[in-house]
Amino acid sequence: MINDCYYDDFDKKENLHFDSKAVHGALGCDPMTGAVSFPIFQTATFRHREFGVSTGYNYTRLLNPTRQELERTMAILEGGLEGFAFSSGQAANMCVFGLLKKGDHVLLSDDIYGGTFRICDEIFSQVGASFTYVDMGDLAAVKEAIRPETRMFFVETPTNPMMKVADIRKISAIAKEAGALLVVDNTFLTPYFQQPIALGADIVVHSGTKYLCGHNDVVAGIAVVTAPELAAHFQGEMKSRGNGLAPFDSWLVLRGIKTLPLRMQKHNENARAVAEWLRRHPRVKKVYYAGFEDHAGYDVTKSQTTGFGGMISFELDSEETAKRLLSNVKMILFAESLGGTESLVTYPLTQTHESTPPDIREKLGINERFIRISIGIEDVRDIIADLEQALA
Ligand SMILES: *Cc1c(COP(=O)(O)O)cnc(C)c1O
Repeated sequence: MINDCYYDDFDKKENLHFDSKAVHGALGCDPMTGAVSFPIFQTATFRHREFGVSTGYNYTRLLNPTRQELERTMAILEGGLEGFAFSSGQAANMCVFGLLKKGDHVLLSDDIYGGTFRICDEIFSQVGASFTYVDMGDLAAVKEAIRPETRMFFVETPTNPMMKVADIRKISAIAKEAGALLVVDNTFLTPYFQQPIALGADIVVHSGTKYLCGHNDVVAGIAVVTAPELAAHFQGEMKSRGNGLAPFDSWLVLRGIKTLPLRMQKHNENARAVAEWLRRHPRVKKVYYAGFEDHAGYDVTKSQTTGFGGMISFELDSEETAKRLLSNVKMILFAESLGGTESLVTYPLTQTHESTPPDIREKLGINERFIRISIGIEDVRDIIADLEQALA
C-alpha cells in the first residue's frame, strides 16, 4: 500500500523553503493511510510477522514512528544529519554531557541556563569532568580558558537571561582548532531565526518545551547532530537511559512546529515594541534586548540571525517595584518557562537561576530588581497596557 506520501519521496521536499518544511515535516502525512495529520503511534511494541522479519520498529523506547517524524523534521529544520527527541531539554543535555569522559574539560557560557549548570555541577563533576564558565562574547577570554583536555564548548546565544551574544562562526573556529565539539543551545531563537550548524556547530540542543512546541503544554527536548558517531551516541543513550519523548508529546511538538514561523514572527515583532516601550519607562533602569543597536552583540546578531526573538530582560529601580510587577500583572502570567503563546514574566533570582552560584549571579547582574519576560503572541497593546498598570 505504497502511495504518494511514502518514505522515499523525502527528496521531493528538499527544495522547499523553511516555512513549508515546518508545515510538511519529514514524511508529513501517514505513509499507510495518507492521513494528513501524522498519526500518534500510541504503542509500546510492534508485531513481527515472522521470525527475522521486522518493520524496523521493535519497541518504543528505541524507536517510535511519531517520535521519529519529529526527530527527522528537526534534523531538516536545523540542517543536521539526525535528530533525537527526549523527555525534556534536561534529558537532551544529559546525553550531550554523556559524551564526556573522566578528565575532560568543558567551556560554557557564563550565564548558562541554571539547569544546565546543575547537570555539570552536580552530576558530571562527580564523574571527573571539569567545567569553566566564560563570557563567550569575549573571544580572548575564551581562548585563554582552553586547556589541553578541553573536549567541548557549550554555548547559548543569546544567553538566558542576560541576552549576551556569542559569535558562533568564530567560536566554532576556536573549538575546531582546540579539537573540541561545539554544542549550541538554540532554544531562544529556534532554527527559524538562527541555524547554528550552518555556522559551524556540531550539535544543536533545544528545550522543545519552549518555542518549538510553543503552547506551554509539553515538556520536551531535542538534539540534532552532524556526524554518524554522534548519532550513534545519542541513539545508545536513548536506548539505555529510556528518555525518549512519548508518542503523544512528540505529536504535540510536531503540531507546534507547523506554526513556528508565524509564531516566531509575532514574538519578534511584539518583543521589539515592548523593549522600546520599556526603555522609555521611568522605573526601568536597563533593558537587555539584542535588537537594540547599542547592544554589545548587535552586529554579531545581525550577522548570524534573521531575528531577535521574543525574550527581554530588564532591571527595575527597586526590589519593591519588581515584586509589585510580579504580583500585579493580570493578562501576563507570573510563571517559569518561555516561548509559548502566552506572555510569561519570571523572576530569575528565585526561579530559573536559583542554581547559579551567587557570585556568578551577582557578576552577571541577576539581582532582586531583575525581571525576565517571554513576550507572547497576544495583541501587543494588551501586553504593554498590562505592564503599564503593573508598574504604576
Ligand atoms: C528550559 C531550558 C532548558 C531546559 O529544558 P527543559 O525542557 O525545561 O528540561 C535548557 N536550556 C534553555 C535555554 C532553556 O530555556
